[in-house]
Amino acid sequence: MPHDTPSYLRTILNKSRLLGANLLQRQSCRYCQLHPPETDLEDQIPLCRQCRELVFPRRNRCYRCALPLPESSGGSIRELTQELDSTLLCGECQHKAPAFTRTVCAGDYRTPISHWINNFKLRRDVRDGYLLTQLLNEEVARQYTGDALPHIAIAVPLHWSKRLYRGFNQSAWIAQQLAPSVHFELLDCFRKDYSRRDQKQLNRQQRQRNLRGKFHLKANIRSQIQGKHLVLVDDVITTSATARVLSQQLMSAGAARVDLWALARTDKTDFQH
Ligand SMILES: [Zn+2]
Ligand SMILES: [Zn+2]
Repeated sequence: MPHDTPSYLRTILNKSRLLGANLLQRQSCRYCQLHPPETDLEDQIPLCRQCRELVFPRRNRCYRCALPLPESSGGSIRELTQELDSTLLCGECQHKAPAFTRTVCAGDYRTPISHWINNFKLRRDVRDGYLLTQLLNEEVARQYTGDALPHIAIAVPLHWSKRLYRGFNQSAWIAQQLAPSVHFELLDCFRKDYSRRDQKQLNRQQRQRNLRGKFHLKANIRSQIQGKHLVLVDDVITTSATARVLSQQLMSAGAARVDLWALARTDKTDFQH
């Protein structure tokens, strides 16, 4: 660019180059970067068909907590149009049903989804957040055929230091993106007790105890959630222990039903989220 180009023009040219680079980037698949994304998709998800099938394979999951189930447990993988089986449950949910009714997630928490989530959460790259939220949105539309959608969304609360560091609560961002299509209201229900110990240093039993005293419903929330169908929104579900504690509190406060939605679900049960 010549040195005598006026500064405002330089800014515009630089911006349009950046925009051009972004558009070019969007014309290739987010995973293989080789093929163009599917163009017949309404939401323009930047993945080609092969990568989408590879990264987001259809799996049989526990209806309650979305834990992936062995192939043998549910027969063949259900087709897009088939009703989901509410009797398909993992061992833990069969043993002790959580207070939430059902869980929907876009995919499994492993590469590349885990990488995209970190990119979104830690580097605040909303393109990856958008991609995953669109896929969650599609999964919700598919799985709620014949079921009522929730009235109110509650983002799983984030520790204040993490929110300060990241500048945002990624779960609240996801809920905001879903609101125009799901038509729910967003409600900030919980106060977090920050004096509680960090979960990472605790064993499973201590974590459960620690979690129970960690979240408190805010004053005057009861009247807003009584008789309502709620959904807890999170980025990743690991053991679902946090969701179990939060949904228990919401149901005890008079909610009619609580569901759980997340971008991804891990099939490991040995660590806490
Ligand atoms: Zn691809
Ligand atoms: Zn389960």
